[in-house]
Amino acid sequence: MGIAPDLQPLLDHLRDVVVPDDMAGDDALEAARCLVRLRNVVDHLVAMLAGVLDRCGVAAGQGRTVRELLISLGCAPSVAERLVRVGGALPTLPTLAAHAGDGAIPGEHVDAIVKGINHIRARSPGEVDEATRFRQVTDLLGQFFSGATPAAIGDRARKLGNRHAAAEGGLPAAEDRSINTLEHRVTSDGRLQVRADLDAEVGAKLVAAIEESSAPRPEPDGSPDTRSASRRRADALETVLDIAARGADVASAPRTQLLVTVPAEAPDLAELAFMGSISTMTMERICCDTTITTVIVDDEHVPLDMGREKRLFPAHLRKALYLRDQCCIKCGAPPGRTHAHHIVHWTHGGETSLNNGCLLCPACHANIHHDGWDVVMGLDKHPWLIPPATVDPHRRAIPAHNRRTMRLNVAA
Ligand SMILES: [Zn+2]
Ligand SMILES: [Zn+2]
Repeated sequence: MGIAPDLQPLLDHLRDVVVPDDMAGDDALEAARCLVRLRNVVDHLVAMLAGVLDRCGVAAGQGRTVRELLISLGCAPSVAERLVRVGGALPTLPTLAAHAGDGAIPGEHVDAIVKGINHIRARSPGEVDEATRFRQVTDLLGQFFSGATPAAIGDRARKLGNRHAAAEGGLPAAEDRSINTLEHRVTSDGRLQVRADLDAEVGAKLVAAIEESSAPRPEPDGSPDTRSASRRRADALETVLDIAARGADVASAPRTQLLVTVPAEAPDLAELAFMGSISTMTMERICCDTTITTVIVDDEHVPLDMGREKRLFPAHLRKALYLRDQCCIKCGAPPGRTHAHHIVHWTHGGETSLNNGCLLCPACHANIHHDGWDVVMGLDKHPWLIPPATVDPHRRAIPAHNRRTMRLNVAA
């Protein structure tokens, strides 16, 4: 018969419970205490069942993972992940399982202890023996019983991991790659949040690359860079990614493949793969100098099926741009960090030629496409910048960065 038939009457019974409006305070407190305990027990039982579902192959038989099976039952993805992790670990952690089964520990704290034990195992150069693991579980349980939050339990586990690694001849945390993580998640408003936990070497490379590209650069009129340090680091990250996408050849087109889906009936509803919808303005900027594969149902309204050959600046034109502009025409960033911008956008019939191109770093490229800056080709066959009226009410043309110095020399 199994345990399922016993559970149904329990559920029916609980469903009949009504919380009265005029409940006495101490009664409410007692009921809440009991229900929290009940929740802990239920959470523990579901985790145990997740372990069973895994071991008896129910999910695999349906062609999916236990995590996916739990999500199909209505669990949030993060809860499903927690249940799978805890369900898989509890059979080897009997002390923790006993406390959890008693309802003494909420599922989130059980999970923090399981993650902590996994972390310590990852830090260990060899196997962790039973007695040692028992001491570690007891230590983390002690943290919980003295009021620690899941995050505090995680901190404690890192300390224990350091101590264990030092005693066993393992690497110090700063040098241990086995615990490196990089997480990214798309937020509800379509942005990307990134979280990383890196060893010293990878960390140093990241910081060096970001710092090198994130120095403040004065505006064309000599006024200080208005971007915050944090914004400059984010811009620098894009520069680093562009350099990586180009490989060793700085004059080549970026190899990054961005996939954009454009509904022909509503081109303003373009979507970027992995991320979500993007505005037409942003799509035009991306199309300037990034390898994009577009999926269009009907090409009548959207000229995106021109193919990259016509749209992207080939190596010989890039080299010509490097020679003429020498750097970002707005801020002077080195050419290897620049995009090739179409002065008359190619979706508006602008051609991919030296006369219709100029070099712009990612941050300045965004200024042109989004912040009202314009680029025009001068009679001198060099690009000129026109600031928005908010920057200069007269919108006087400013020469490209490499020509600004020349002008000063001429004036002197
Ligand atoms: Zn720039
Ligand atoms: Zn552009």
